[in-house]
Amino acid sequence: MKSKWVEAEAEDLVARGAKKGIARDLALRVYTTRLLGGDPRLVLHGGGNTSLKARAGDLLGEDIDILRIKASGADMATIEPEGLPALRLAPLRNLRALEAVADEKLVAIERANLIDPAAPNPSVEVILHAFLPHKFIDHTHASAVLSVIDQRDGEEKCAEVFGGRLGFVPYLMPGFRLAKKAIEVFERTKPSHGLILSKHGIVTFGESAREAYERMIEMATLAEDFIACNSKPRIIATLWREPEPVAAVAPIVRGACSQKDDKIEGAWQRLVLDFRGGSAILSALQSDLPCLSEGGVVTPDHTIRTKNWPLVLPHPDAGKLDEFAHATREAARAFVTRYRKYFAQQHKRVGGGKQELDPLARVVLVPGLGLFGLGQTKRDAVIAADIAEEWIAVVGDAERIGRFESISEADMFDCEYWPLEQAKLGARKELPLAGQIVAITGAAGAIGAAAARAFAAAGAEVAVLDVNPAAAREQAKKISASALPVECDVTDPASVRAAFDQLTAHFGGVDIVVSNAGAAWQGRIGEVDEGILRQSFELNFYGHQRVAQAAIKIMLAQGSGGCLLFNVSKQAVNPGPNFGPYGIPKAALLALMRQYALDYGADGIRANAVNADRIRSGLLTEAMIASRAKARGLSEKDYMSGNLLGREVTAEDVAQAFLHQALALKTTADVTTVDGGNIAAAMR
Ligand SMILES: [Zn+2]
Repeated sequence: MKSKWVEAEAEDLVARGAKKGIARDLALRVYTTRLLGGDPRLVLHGGGNTSLKARAGDLLGEDIDILRIKASGADMATIEPEGLPALRLAPLRNLRALEAVADEKLVAIERANLIDPAAPNPSVEVILHAFLPHKFIDHTHASAVLSVIDQRDGEEKCAEVFGGRLGFVPYLMPGFRLAKKAIEVFERTKPSHGLILSKHGIVTFGESAREAYERMIEMATLAEDFIACNSKPRIIATLWREPEPVAAVAPIVRGACSQKDDKIEGAWQRLVLDFRGGSAILSALQSDLPCLSEGGVVTPDHTIRTKNWPLVLPHPDAGKLDEFAHATREAARAFVTRYRKYFAQQHKRVGGGKQELDPLARVVLVPGLGLFGLGQTKRDAVIAADIAEEWIAVVGDAERIGRFESISEADMFDCEYWPLEQAKLGARKELPLAGQIVAITGAAGAIGAAAARAFAAAGAEVAVLDVNPAAAREQAKKISASALPVECDVTDPASVRAAFDQLTAHFGGVDIVVSNAGAAWQGRIGEVDEGILRQSFELNFYGHQRVAQAAIKIMLAQGSGGCLLFNVSKQAVNPGPNFGPYGIPKAALLALMRQYALDYGADGIRANAVNADRIRSGLLTEAMIASRAKARGLSEKDYMSGNLLGREVTAEDVAQAFLHQALALKTTADVTTVDGGNIAAAMR
């Protein structure tokens, strides 16, 4: 590992900071914090922290000693000076006289000593940084270091690899007791570069930002070199067998790792998936599986993202998907049972008072295929998968140089259920469609785009399907960072299959489909060319059937219900003159929706339709509105609001109707009219 310190970059940041009144030391603290945070071999997703001791004015202008430390859960890679809240140092140091401080009291003391009362909470390691005397302190969970210290003989390995440069602090969970222990070890052993926190990570210190940072790089490199020189070769015993593809495996995994909501009938707790494959993961799953399945986390704060153990599945042999599905469900059930037992036992040990978290796996290992990270959002799933990848590498290296050993189950529980650890995940607003995946066809059009926005705002992950790939990409960017653009021509069976494979491999499955793609053809029915009629049926009927069929296959594999939503049209029940080529397939589509509701109700899959009319969209352009209004002798406004309520209906109104149908768990075979009122088109 090489130092990424570039003098010119550092000075540039200092110069830019100076213009905003940011002191040199703080600018350099930000610089090396970003260097550390930008390397996944050192720090992942909110892990690690850095600090700086300085003199500064408090709110009343008095010059005092302060400690600046990374805010809890903040990402080091993108940190700004505000991400390092400042605290009065002296009162924190005085805490050393105490034997113990309760968590709530400690947080209160920390908050009471923030210079800016509105600043975010400081890192959970703030007291450790306060007790150590050094000006700059860096703390990471460097992978190579973890491989060396997550060992049965971690202390001996630490001495062998780092010599007297790093003191060895035995494992204690993060917080006040660890801080006391760390300063005690530091004062007793006087290490030159920093400390090892057993089964947790490494601390380096220095009088300058560069010194502390480069000591971190130097120590991580010593660990890397030790691993390179002392690794036993990996033994891979099993033969390669053809696995089922990710798109076939993912919905089975996702369904098995979801659970019925016990309060609301028909509701499920679902998670989103993120898949990782590649040769490093596959060979680790062959050689280290026993250790990975039981070994535990490589550093304590991973537990809130990955839980303590993964769910381990069998190899998904090609052509034997049913067997795999059966074994997966069994394994997932056993995982839940084990998690509940673990919670009950540990909860009893600590004397109660904790709320059990959901018992679903966050990392799933599939030998022969790869691994899945799971989370309530795609972002959470990606974080779980990132951590799992690093975890596999750390455990593998640890096994090559000795015997991997994690913290005890009791220690893992204490971290997993530590309120300060859970607080890192941030206060979450429980959105109604959290954990659900929606696929929307024709999503670059007016109604499709409005639906994508509405479903994303309700917490769903959105796949933006459109026949125009550039338009799909453009639209996905507008929806959210995690929206997935997918090219899909619903008139082409192969394109529909490929689109659903793609979104399933990406998100893990699908729960809701808004089958929206359509286009209008006209012609007097007795004279219209049959080719026109067939073309319209191809898009306005078969297009929906193909999409629904592809979705049903995935929903059945998941086994957690689902919802099909069809954009029909008032034409289905109230035909317009010369509009047969459009209205007739739409009437068939209405029947199709009812057939799905009938055939799949027992599987918990609902089917509903929206009949909308007169929406500004690709089917009713501004030019068409102008000419039709003129033909009827109406103003455009009067033409657009020519309904019982006298109100123009928008794409957003249609999107809200779809959203309502998705949320109405007891409603299927429903047609909701969104047309401002039209008695001739009324359903009943
Ligand atoms: Zn840590």
